[in-house]
Amino acid sequence: MHANHVVACLGGDKTALETRPLPDVGPGELLLDLRVVGFCGTDLFKLDTGAAGPGTVLGHELVGEVAAVGGGVTGFKPGDRVAVPHHVPCGECLVCRRGNETMCETFRENLMAPGGFADAVLIKARATAQAAHKVPDGVSDEAAVFVEPAACVLRGVNRAEIDTQGSGDAVAVVQGGGSMGLLHLLVLKAALPGCRVVVVDPQADRRDLALKLGADAAAEPGEAALAAVGNLSGGAGADAVFDTVGGAGPLRAALALTRQGGSVVLFAHAPDGQAADFDLNDLFKYERRILGTYSGALREQGAVFDLIASGALDPTPLVTHKMPLDDFQTGLDLVRQRKALKVLFTPSRAAQGTEA
Ligand SMILES: [Zn+2]
Ligand SMILES: [Zn+2]
Repeated sequence: MHANHVVACLGGDKTALETRPLPDVGPGELLLDLRVVGFCGTDLFKLDTGAAGPGTVLGHELVGEVAAVGGGVTGFKPGDRVAVPHHVPCGECLVCRRGNETMCETFRENLMAPGGFADAVLIKARATAQAAHKVPDGVSDEAAVFVEPAACVLRGVNRAEIDTQGSGDAVAVVQGGGSMGLLHLLVLKAALPGCRVVVVDPQADRRDLALKLGADAAAEPGEAALAAVGNLSGGAGADAVFDTVGGAGPLRAALALTRQGGSVVLFAHAPDGQAADFDLNDLFKYERRILGTYSGALREQGAVFDLIASGALDPTPLVTHKMPLDDFQTGLDLVRQRKALKVLFTPSRAAQGTEA
């Protein structure tokens, strides 16, 4: 391969397949040939809000095959399959030492060049050294590509501090049965096997899929959701509610589903600048907590990699579409129209040698 085909942002939500020079591999770096890259809600958000400037290449849920290794890299060789996140904290600053690694200044640096939606992706030295995982033979690309998003989910699950040891009858709710909502369901079941999970979504096909994937109940928002949670929790409410929808209305709904002393975890973008609107006594008098998480750090990435490698976590049923980078717009439209759950992109037709 002599040139790199990438999906470049053109401003607004426009993108186009573009040809760029292949990145040079420096010391400590890896050059990966794309195997699969996941389309993430954050990519969609950046396109829809125009946050991605012209020339930007998005995409960060990546599995690639090592094409070249930089000087000094010992853990990888050409041909290895690798799953790697794009963000790595410094481990030394104040927020890292306090356990808020995802707030680290260094963490914000994108360690993938030009980005994941490309036939060839350069992995910078810090990610290569600290965060890249060699994918074992028995683990598919379609499973390994979830290491990054599932680590984000696991961080929220851990922060909710759901107690499955004591009484063993914990109840969690996931608002939204899209790919992130259903990934919450699977991560909750894998990480906390004793936890019962209710998935709330207005779409019947998504509720059916949630039940197939192991949800203990699935309900429409509103009265039906309250009844389902009441049923499983003996009327108490959920220990934790994970909101993957976003916004003030879903937050109020989440608080209504949470038991006294329980947690609401926000895991979705709200419309920019939107203020919340809920009864403050839900927090003060009833000791509820509202938390936010948006990413995962090394600890969660490692834990999720182990869950996927062991087979305890298998998110592959969430993959509904796979298509070459050339069809980026098609994949985006399917997600927008809620016709797809997880869309994965594969190398461009030119890279696959299938171009007419
Ligand atoms: Zn993502
Ligand atoms: Zn730091």
